Amino acid sequence: MSEMLSQANDTLRNLFGFSEFRPNQKEIIEHVLSEKKLLAVMPTGAGKSLCYQIPAIVSSKRTIIISPLIALMDDQLSSMKLLGVKVEKIHANIDRQEAIDAWLRFKNGESKIIYMSPERLMTEKMLQSLQSLDIGLFVIDEAHCISKWGQSFRKDYEALSQLKELFPESNVIGFTATADEATRLDIADKIAGGNAKIIVRGFDRPNLYLSIKLKRKWQSQLLEFLSNRKQVSGIVYCLSRNGTEKVASFLSENGFNACAYHAGLDGDTRRKVQDRFMTEEGMVVVATIAFGMGIDKPDIRYVVHVNLPSSLEAYYQEIGRAGRDGLASETLLIYGLDDLVLRRRMIEESDAEDEYKLREHKRLDYLLSYCETPDCRRKLLLNYFDDKIDECNNCDNCLDPPKLIDGTELAQKLLSTIFRTGQYFGQVHVINVLRGMEEKNIIDKGHNNLSVFGIGSEYSKDFWQSFVRQLLAFGHLRLNIHRYGSLQITNSGMDILKNGKLFQYKEIKNESKVKKISREVVSDLDENDQSLLMKLKELRLNIAKESKLPAFTVFHDIALRDMAVLKPRTSEEFLEINGVGPSKLEKWSSPFMKIIEEHLKAIEETH
Ligand code: ADP
Repeated sequence: MSEMLSQANDTLRNLFGFSEFRPNQKEIIEHVLSEKKLLAVMPTGAGKSLCYQIPAIVSSKRTIIISPLIALMDDQLSSMKLLGVKVEKIHANIDRQEAIDAWLRFKNGESKIIYMSPERLMTEKMLQSLQSLDIGLFVIDEAHCISKWGQSFRKDYEALSQLKELFPESNVIGFTATADEATRLDIADKIAGGNAKIIVRGFDRPNLYLSIKLKRKWQSQLLEFLSNRKQVSGIVYCLSRNGTEKVASFLSENGFNACAYHAGLDGDTRRKVQDRFMTEEGMVVVATIAFGMGIDKPDIRYVVHVNLPSSLEAYYQEIGRAGRDGLASETLLIYGLDDLVLRRRMIEESDAEDEYKLREHKRLDYLLSYCETPDCRRKLLLNYFDDKIDECNNCDNCLDPPKLIDGTELAQKLLSTIFRTGQYFGQVHVINVLRGMEEKNIIDKGHNNLSVFGIGSEYSKDFWQSFVRQLLAFGHLRLNIHRYGSLQITNSGMDILKNGKLFQYKEIKNESKVKKISREVVSDLDENDQSLLMKLKELRLNIAKESKLPAFTVFHDIALRDMAVLKPRTSEEFLEINGVGPSKLEKWSSPFMKIIEEHLKAIEETH
């Protein structure tokens, strides 16, 4: 065992080129090497793949890695091959002959590691053939797909729960980034009959900046956010396929390298977008949630939502795709009440059982309170996942704390307008009555004769919309989806209306007066190092294009930054760079050191 542990350490340093394990990696690897069952719950970017790749490499037995995501399998395969590891794959996107060849190499022991999609693994024929081989380890990646409690349940994943009975001599372990407590127990039960050790790594992703904006004009809000991010990669999430097309063409018209991505596009187009995103610098993919699960790109610098996600789990998973390399990355959610109405309607109109609908509505409630909280966002977010931190100092509320104002009287004005109009109308109508708008609809219904008509005219439409959202977030109002999103007063809302219970609201600022916090993509490198970094990036892109590889599989951003700062000139120095092992040293150190050499010479000459 200690022999294998020292091999694991060697592999980390000499094959992957990393100087040390990240939190929990060592513990997990030790556990796996001692052939014990395990479920690891670690946030995106924590380094899950290494936790099973190293045991797979070190072990003398064979390993099968199961993933629902073809793109992810392909990326991991090419990364491992670059390191010189023999590894195979069998999934729906490779042809019959390739699959046969891969299988034969795995069977005769030429390769000890194979990636498989669940549907290819769980055929009678495959399971039969595997019985005669010495399979040490089954790794179930994205293990939450096995549980009905999770949000991405897949029938073909559920079948994996048979592995523990079919291969009692083998170990089965699972990895996931998203699972609340109930889901964790369910997964552990499915993969290991409840015997698995569950290791949960804190969910905090301190390098992600969290911010939320009220939707006014998404076009200008998006442009403002993206204006200094043309050189970096990012994702903009939209709710609908149509939305992605619209936003992508808007961004293209404004000079961005933008592409739409959704499940309605044919496979070929989707693959092309994905390939470009992995390889080109400075591209923005505008996508539905169909995009991202299998994207193993560590240098995504921002994630923007222009619609409300379905839950905090979904939101955290989606923003979690940014900054896997640990470098500072930004997230922005732009949402309006329309999004909320739409989300509620989607839940109501689904075929699901009532219990499920109720749970989904609750999830949305949490998301809304996250959006409207005046406190540290990360605190609330992590609290939801049973994790605790102090103020984060990396969210909009921490950096520009909102003022709380007594809004009891204003709330009473709004609530009584809702009450007097019969709790029958949506926010547009209610706000129009409140602001005294003499519109046909209002006059037809005689609402201009109500005592509440015009009692809130001193505030803008935007102000009231924001105010409504805050009352909703604190549960004083609810949306009745069966009545087209009409606003209704809850018991606590009645308490404000009738008994004057205190209601404090978060100061609502006029967008143009909002203090602009500079969230520039600032670099801590000096001018010279920065210019070297740009040259190194250019070289990386050329190599990536020539070898048809995603740029980051050549070297990560972190490795390039290290090079720009440390300026290695010998092989020994080059090996010190984070993420450089012997294989990459041999392949690429010369062209990179050449650029560094030229850069240093040019500087000397100018001095
Ligand atoms: P996850 O699957 O948990 O989202 P990955 O396995 O894709 O995360 O790892 C995220 C990034 O971190 C990858 O680029 C990986 O190479 C890098 N990484 C993993 N472990 C280490 C380590 N010990 N030191 C440095 N980088 C690491």
